Amino acid sequence: MPDQPTWYFDPADHCFIQSEVPGAVALPALDGSLDTGDTALAWAVDDFGRTTALPPPLGVLRPGSVDDISTVLRFAGEHGIAVVARAEGHSTSGQAQAPAGIVLDMRGLNAVHLVTADRIVVEAGARWSQVLETTLPLGAAPPVLTDYLELSVGGTLSVGGISGATHQHGLQTDNVLELDAITHDGVHVTCSPDTNPDLFEALRAGRGRHGIIVRATLRLVPAHTHARWYRLRYHDLDTFLADQRTLMAEGRFHHLEGQATPEHDGTWTYRIDAATYFTPPVTPVREQLLAGLADQRDALEINDFTYHGFQNRLAPGVELLRTLGPWQGPHPWLNLFLPDHTARQVLAETFSTLTPADLGDDGVILVYPVPRSRIRTPQVRLPEAPIVFLFAILRSAPPDDATALNARVQANHRVQHRATAAGGTVYLGAIET
Ligand SMILES: Cc1cc2nc3c(=O)[nH]c(=O)nc-3n(C[C@H](O)[C@H](O)[C@H](O)COP(=O)(O)OP(=O)(O)OC[C@H]3O[C@@H](n4cnc5c(N)ncnc54)[C@H](O)[C@@H]3O)c2cc1C
Repeated sequence: MPDQPTWYFDPADHCFIQSEVPGAVALPALDGSLDTGDTALAWAVDDFGRTTALPPPLGVLRPGSVDDISTVLRFAGEHGIAVVARAEGHSTSGQAQAPAGIVLDMRGLNAVHLVTADRIVVEAGARWSQVLETTLPLGAAPPVLTDYLELSVGGTLSVGGISGATHQHGLQTDNVLELDAITHDGVHVTCSPDTNPDLFEALRAGRGRHGIIVRATLRLVPAHTHARWYRLRYHDLDTFLADQRTLMAEGRFHHLEGQATPEHDGTWTYRIDAATYFTPPVTPVREQLLAGLADQRDALEINDFTYHGFQNRLAPGVELLRTLGPWQGPHPWLNLFLPDHTARQVLAETFSTLTPADLGDDGVILVYPVPRSRIRTPQVRLPEAPIVFLFAILRSAPPDDATALNARVQANHRVQHRATAAGGTVYLGAIET
């Protein structure tokens, strides 16, 4: 590593400079580097949501080691500078931004330290795609993977990490065996359910407020080689929800999600996405999996994937959206949990006013149930009900159209208000200060 230039923090102007002026204090030597250039700052003020216009940070710190994070947190603490971790920046409300602070770019700390059949020890900047590609050759996988794999381990462990496997295995944060973190006073702490349990509880879904996760030991389970994906279609909300509850309660499928779609003729359609994993020559028995369900059977779609292909199923669509442009546009997303007893009412009221245009060209609405008891992460706020539904309105908005974006953000506020008045809670909202 070539010698890094010395940086000084000038408290009078609250900025980093490269020349020593009276009152300025030198940033201690680092293995990594501080970048105050325009490209780095532009990266740090952007996120997947593109709904916020927060001031830029003072700089982006790319740690070259875990010790760098301790050094920077200590220095920042002494001089009143906010430090926020950021990895893939797939937040949608500025959660990984640090106005006038330091953004820690976690992506470089992504090494795999150990992998066995039942656990992987990985640095927090690793993406879930990297984790899966490392574990699958051993016939193992994390029990819960997010729908999109290009999110960082530290980023999703800081929020929860929900998906179609949650009805059986809880959140990603429920499947962590141990964490290493640097607390805000710069101390490196290892924590688990048995060692420093308070910190372990605070870090999981803690949104970076209780320390920077640098390393995680993740639980693995045996992985099948294939997945069979069943798409069951409905015209009626009640039948869709009833079948979802049945499938959740009986645990017939390894993966259970669902979508609601506004059609251009003013009606709504619903789809259960359920998948079962298998290793040939054993194959799933369709009659058992679908017994008693009331879907439109003539619209049933069944597709086989490799296990990896199924977990990575969003990749081709994302590639297309990247190429065509909408992936880089604004995403005013709203993620909620609804209690079962008011879910139908909130969904029906919301759907009665929501049109395809409100959702945006590549917008999606997710609806699926989870037994509350499976989620054991204290920091995730859940409705008081034995069954909770994830209700996610994943809107897109045209680029450079502040009016359209604002209309969708306001519409989200109204849905959030309706949901919380009915006992719902917010998942993935802006960080409250
Ligand atoms: C396309 C897409 C698909 C998604 N799919 C799912 C899904 O299936 N299930 C689900 O639950 N969520 C999903 N999400 C939401 C996603 O899990 C969160 O936004 C997650 O925080 C993103 O991870 P990231 O690496 O981009 O984190 P960033 O956006 O970089 O950071 C997110 C938050 O975590 C903090 N943070 C990041 N790294 C660390 C660290 N090492 N230590 C402490 N704090 C840290 C940041 O400060 C910030 O508060 C999806 C988001 C997108 C855009």
